[in-house]
Amino acid sequence: PVRTRFAPSPTGYLHLGGARTALFSWAYARRFGGTFILRIEDTDLERSTPEAVQAIIDGMQWLGLEHDEGPFYQMKRMERYREVVAHMLQQGTAYYCYSSPEEVEAMRERQRAAGEKPRYDGTWRPERGKTLPEIPEGRKPVVRFRNPLDGDVTWDDVVKGPITISNREMDDLVIARPDGTPTYNFCVVVDDWDMKITHVIRGDDHVNNTPRQINILKALGGTLPLYGHVPMILGADGEKLSKRHGAVSVMDYPAQGFLPEAMLNYLARLGWSHGDEEIFSMEQFCEWFDLDHLSKSPAQFNPEKLAWLNNHYIKLADNERLAALVRPLLEKDGAQFDGAPALAQTIALLKERANTVNELAPAVMMFYRQPAPDAALVTQHITDAIKPALQDFAARCATVEWNKAALGAMIKEVLAAHTLKMPLLAMPLRLIVAGQLQTPAIDAVLELFGREVVLARLQNYL
Ligand code: GLU
Repeated sequence: PVRTRFAPSPTGYLHLGGARTALFSWAYARRFGGTFILRIEDTDLERSTPEAVQAIIDGMQWLGLEHDEGPFYQMKRMERYREVVAHMLQQGTAYYCYSSPEEVEAMRERQRAAGEKPRYDGTWRPERGKTLPEIPEGRKPVVRFRNPLDGDVTWDDVVKGPITISNREMDDLVIARPDGTPTYNFCVVVDDWDMKITHVIRGDDHVNNTPRQINILKALGGTLPLYGHVPMILGADGEKLSKRHGAVSVMDYPAQGFLPEAMLNYLARLGWSHGDEEIFSMEQFCEWFDLDHLSKSPAQFNPEKLAWLNNHYIKLADNERLAALVRPLLEKDGAQFDGAPALAQTIALLKERANTVNELAPAVMMFYRQPAPDAALVTQHITDAIKPALQDFAARCATVEWNKAALGAMIKEVLAAHTLKMPLLAMPLRLIVAGQLQTPAIDAVLELFGREVVLARLQNYL
């Protein structure tokens, strides 16, 4: 059975790159009826914060990337890591190393001076027939992994293809510090092993860790998962995605009025493709997602495309759902809902062109405030010449059937009776009723405002 995991370090917000690897891991598990695990890698005590843990959980929840197991916290698994360290010491796949940090540094200096790649020289590595130095008084040892000296580590990366690293390139990695706390790569291996992970999908900033992790896992007798290292996300300028490119935290997107389905669809296409398909549901994605179509080259973040997708999903979204998102924004701006048309209806009228939910708020605001048209525009558009037509319009308003079609027909009659062109009547009406010149079709706007409001506002000008 497929078992995947997302294993963020809670040192900041959930960023787009993390969300994307989470999405891929989640979708892969969903596709094969497998299990998706959330694991919080919180052993870096200086950089990990509870707020960051919460931000990750919030981000995953907003995106709907539900985990089947977890969240597991590495800090709660310390006993288990100690147990595995003890097991490896006993097995002989790890050893105590009493070299002091100064000695290790001196060793590296010598190697660098000799033009060699710095690595632990094996002073404390037990070998058959070798006598180890005497243990220095009171010195606490680290535990090092006994990395194979010869041969290669090879894996067939599901994204990058076959990768081979010579064991000669690799150090005897410290797996436990003098105080007994385990180190990063070691915890990852024990977790992937215990959690029976079958597919490790992660950012390619981890590709250098993989041969080390493979060697430790082999020493433990574990089954190797498949590894897939996804290239990073770049900004439109080709630089690594960062704050300069705008929001990089997933949770900035709901704040800016993006819908999770737009973000998911966008991330799904970022470094993965299915023919020319651009728009698909997560259900569809989980049916299609495969590791063969992950791109080897970095993906470029394109905010316009994300906005385009968001507009698409806003148009599809249930209007009541949008109303719930827009209402707090309107309230903040002092919107008046009494006697005003239902928010879901005004949203329905205006969402066509909105790239974000946040753009919807100012767009529908004309329905929820007293109009205060610009004085110069009033003088320009509400002339004495047009007043008879407005009078006529107001009179017919009292009796016309109040729906868009009837209002449209009535406006045509007024235009004909006064031999006017549409804008000459529509512009004053917009200013009077909505307080602005830009609105959707006048008949639709009038219908939503309602007879009472329209008549009351007309009276002020007649
Ligand atoms: N904790 C690592 C990170 O946040 C991921 C480790 C992994 O996926 O193996 O970058």
